[in-house]
Amino acid sequence: MKHSLPWIYAAAVGSYGATLNVVPAKTACLACIFPDSPRGMVETCETSGILNTAVNLVASVAATEAVKLLVGGAAAEQLRKTLWSYDVWRSEQAEIAADSPRVGCRACGERDFVHLAGEGRPHVTMCGRNSVQIHEQARTIDFAEMQQRLESHGIVRHNEFVLKFWRDPYEMTLFPDGRAINMASGILRARYRKGAGRPVFLQPGETYELPIDLIGTSNVFERGHRIRVDVTSSDFPAFDRHLNTEEPFGSGVKPRIAHQTVYHNTTQASYVLLPVITSRSRDGVRKSQ
Ligand SMILES: [Zn+2]
Repeated sequence: MKHSLPWIYAAAVGSYGATLNVVPAKTACLACIFPDSPRGMVETCETSGILNTAVNLVASVAATEAVKLLVGGAAAEQLRKTLWSYDVWRSEQAEIAADSPRVGCRACGERDFVHLAGEGRPHVTMCGRNSVQIHEQARTIDFAEMQQRLESHGIVRHNEFVLKFWRDPYEMTLFPDGRAINMASGILRARYRKGAGRPVFLQPGETYELPIDLIGTSNVFERGHRIRVDVTSSDFPAFDRHLNTEEPFGSGVKPRIAHQTVYHNTTQASYVLLPVITSRSRDGVRKSQ
């Protein structure tokens, strides 16, 4: 939209796929049709799964539209001007008219690209890939410099478009505009804090020290970097759900709401342990990071 280039949206989840051709200034964009991002629980391929035939269907339809765009001329006149969706399981089809931009559209009308500016959704969990996408537009990245800085922490490769970094079991992908896909997380089933096979349940009102192993990652902290820590009471579907009762896993049926307090006072100071790695840089000078 920003560069006035035609593009094609295609997505699939569960048993349905949806696709939309966007020709800037001629047809509607996604923000014309959906002025606000969906809120609350949204179906994702992690919660609903995905049927590969739905992917194949929507990819075929979108690729055919792309051929029309590339051929141009009379073929481009055949471009579909609707947001089209089809459910391969229910055999249901739906279309929403998209033949002209909506007057006053935030994106294509006022050219206010909140998502490109990194203001829309700060991070996105990537479906089924056990990874998180962080979109950070404020700083650009020098790949050569970044490669040099990361080399002591794992394997790094880059070209002009992308930098890849591997340190088992993690993988990070960086794009020049600052997008990053990264993850470090850990979990502790509190009843097993004294060891696997020795369940001891937490008691309400008591304070416990719960060491959570983040398994291991590596990062170069630059001036101005900040760490965000999210503490959650569960991590479904990556791990088995927890109903906050003493019922066994997998067969519990009576969920309860758990209220948890993370302390950070002087006597009960929760913390993130960050060992400092000393590395040898290319010119042989030792420096700590
Ligand atoms: Zn629009």
